[in-house]
Amino acid sequence: MNKFEYLVPQTLDEAVSMYDAHGDQAAYIAGGTDIVVKMKEYKISPGYIISLKHVLPRSEPQRDRETGELTLAASVTHRMIENSALIKNEYPILHDAIGNIGSVQIRNVATIGGNLVNAVPSADGVIPLIALDAGVNIYGAKGKRSLALVHFFTGPGQNVLEKGEILVDIVIPPQLPHTGSAYHKFGRRKAMELPMLGVGVLLSLEERTRRCARARVCLGVAAPTPFRALGAERFLVGKKIDDAVLQEAGTIAAEESQVRDSIRGVAWYRREMVAVLVRRMGQKCLERIKTTSEKA
Ligand SMILES: Cc1cc2nc3c(=O)[nH]c(=O)nc-3n(C[C@H](O)[C@H](O)[C@H](O)COP(=O)(O)OP(=O)(O)OC[C@H]3O[C@@H](n4cnc5c(N)ncnc54)[C@H](O)[C@@H]3O)c2cc1C
Repeated sequence: MNKFEYLVPQTLDEAVSMYDAHGDQAAYIAGGTDIVVKMKEYKISPGYIISLKHVLPRSEPQRDRETGELTLAASVTHRMIENSALIKNEYPILHDAIGNIGSVQIRNVATIGGNLVNAVPSADGVIPLIALDAGVNIYGAKGKRSLALVHFFTGPGQNVLEKGEILVDIVIPPQLPHTGSAYHKFGRRKAMELPMLGVGVLLSLEERTRRCARARVCLGVAAPTPFRALGAERFLVGKKIDDAVLQEAGTIAAEESQVRDSIRGVAWYRREMVAVLVRRMGQKCLERIKTTSEKA
């Protein structure tokens, strides 16, 4: 690893000014689990590393009592998300995904913001947040801006952040009643792997008819950027959800996916697994809705 200077700003503005001062030589660091690996492998060699530690609050995931919105500061670690009872009980899709990232040591320091900004197709934090319709708040020299997370990614390892912009937080809107959600990371080994696929499904049922009021079918490692299988979602909405409906939704999602051959799996197999996992995650959503209703 090449030598670098470590800078520790105390405010967002200070961090942005430091970045501007050092231009292409600067890089932000949060938990360091992605960037340090790249530096060790000489994929990047920034001369100035700017810590976000004191710039972004490391607060527990919080839900606003009035708006019902859940805010995750970009600096929240995976372990904080995994250990949050609120996330476990009410946003299980996020808990499914984050609890399987790397190892406990990695999750203790790695942040959700770093996971999104790194923008690799296999990032486990991304798919559940897209399924939850999350938005992101960004701060930079030109001020603040916000956008839906699904529009944040522009290609493998690429995102919409302009030079020096900081991802500040992630906001999840209130969920509809009778909502269930689930994520599955599919790979060949259990630990410390990058997934061959990441599949997240969220279903909300109407109170009276129990028909599907809202569906999200989100796929990772199935295209250059994470995406929603909109055809499968449209197919589900308005239907009574049973195994046959979920199977058809899985087939549609598999057709929509753009999986390709890679060292982690051949395209035909991954496409088949999209269909299987969409069905399984849909079933898990229904089980979770049932369990929540029984507890209420
Ligand atoms: C052994 C190992 C196993 C892993 N397993 C998994 C896994 O199973 N699933 C998975 O998804 N990932 C995995 N990862 C990848 C990594 O841990 C995650 O992507 C992690 O969330 C990155 O967060 P970080 O805080 O460490 O990011 P950093 O390394 O600090 O930063 C990553 C990138 O984002 C930028 N950045 C960070 N925060 C911000 C911000 N708020 N605003 C603007 N830019 C920012 C940095 O400049 C850098 O370019 C693994 C990594 C290792 C080393």
